[in-house]
Amino acid sequence: MIDIATRISPAIAPAISETISQLQNCHLIANALVPAIAGATLEVMEPATGQIIGIAPAAQAADVARAVDAAAAAFPGWAATPARQRGKLIAEAARRLAERAEITATVLALETGKAIRTECRGEVATAIDIVTMYAGLATELKGETLPFDPQLLTYTSREPLGVVAAILPWNVPLVLMMLKIAPALVAGNTVVVKASEEAPYATIEMARWMAALLPPGVLNVICGTGRDCGAALVEHPAVAKVTFTGSQAVGELISQTAARKIIPVSLELGGKSPMIVYGDADLSRVVPGAIAGMRFTRQGQSCTAASRIYVHSALFDPFVAALREAVAKLVIGDPLDEATDIGTVISQRQKAKIESYLALGERTAGAKVMRCGELPRPDYLADGLFLQPTIVTGLGEDSPLMREEIFGPVVCVQPWDDEDDVIARANDSDFGLAATVWTHDLRAALRAVRRIDAGYVQVNQNLTIQPNLSYGGFKKSGVGKEASLEAMLEHFTRKKTVVIDMR
Ligand code: NAD
Repeated sequence: MIDIATRISPAIAPAISETISQLQNCHLIANALVPAIAGATLEVMEPATGQIIGIAPAAQAADVARAVDAAAAAFPGWAATPARQRGKLIAEAARRLAERAEITATVLALETGKAIRTECRGEVATAIDIVTMYAGLATELKGETLPFDPQLLTYTSREPLGVVAAILPWNVPLVLMMLKIAPALVAGNTVVVKASEEAPYATIEMARWMAALLPPGVLNVICGTGRDCGAALVEHPAVAKVTFTGSQAVGELISQTAARKIIPVSLELGGKSPMIVYGDADLSRVVPGAIAGMRFTRQGQSCTAASRIYVHSALFDPFVAALREAVAKLVIGDPLDEATDIGTVISQRQKAKIESYLALGERTAGAKVMRCGELPRPDYLADGLFLQPTIVTGLGEDSPLMREEIFGPVVCVQPWDDEDDVIARANDSDFGLAATVWTHDLRAALRAVRRIDAGYVQVNQNLTIQPNLSYGGFKKSGVGKEASLEAMLEHFTRKKTVVIDMR
């Protein structure tokens, strides 16, 4: 057992222990931190050490009803608040969240195992950027006048939907929360967030400061398992919309319930994103682009991870050698240590799943599995869920490593010679979330961009989700867009058509 205070700056240690103790065993309902009604709890583990850092409430249907009732009671008042006023409050929330950014980032690093320097501070900053962007879009909740008949005044108006359920995973909980709640709140909806049971604290920490500026019940957060809490939330009759990020299997279940209730649903379900490197590409840019794209500093736990890299055969060997060398230099270690590039994966279950894919790769004839870098040595990290970033070559296109979302630090690299063939291979996936193309030949880049079957395509770069870039997948990667004005208008409002006879 090692005291967390010895691993962080003395300047912030008291604030972290105070915050973690305030966040013990609580939902956020109507601006109060409350335990589960039936008293059931879940343990929250620090993946870097295996220590239990606290408990979270395990919501049952009664807790879900309490949160939804609070959101439903707050809805009429919030919907009637002028949009500019809602935007002002949300903008003020962004400023308050920025004041606590370091505390939030540290809590996030503790509960997710993601490195504070390379991941958590950036996640908090992006989450706040998203809030700021949506606050400024409050006055864009406009309708249109329709040129139907000169004797009639015909227009549309945008209205909020009601209570929105926002269900989060553990990999980037703060950014994913803000992509959902910021547009929902600005548009006049009230929200019940279902935090990930594996990483609930940073979510509640951010939400409580935001909620404190809003009328009670406008923003609520509950915690529990998917089965008891998430499913009950989707089922609740007063929930008018569900927005979800997570696995395809759960996305299907939520869609079925939403279809039965006839309510709209947005789904972000992951990917197996291709990165196509042409023979003229500049390796000094492609290699860092591959590391960033594969989200190695997040242990590959990203829905947009560039997990299938197709490299022109002229560059294949030098690319693999350079990637291997560069990845091996990344420091795997304590997520709270400023020297660390890569922390842990989230859970023993995810670690075992990733290792089973690596074992399959090692059993595959012709495949080469290259584990890079060094696992951390300190005794206090001995039970940590660390994995080495791994490059796999020599697989068939039908290998599960090529087709399934591993959600770990495993990248498959394949050679190609023919453009038609590589684009067909890139598109031969159930997923269609993201893709990147690396070439200086503008015509080749534009040909590829046009033919790639994915919702977010980049050339010569590999950004993650950015405020104002409409984001969402094709095929089994999901339904709907996030991060943009369009996302707020299309997914968090309903449109009313009004016709007034002026004769
Ligand atoms: P998950 O889909 O099991 O859980 C995501 C969220 O949904 C959690 O809050 C969970 O409690 C909730 N949930 C689970 N069952 C539910 C149900 N029946 N009804 C309503 N809510 C329910 O994902 P996970 O366990 O966090 O990760 C499993 C896999 O999902 C990963 O291996 C990865 O492939 C994928 N994943 C994708 C993303 C992404 O960004 N696309 C993020 C996280 C996980």
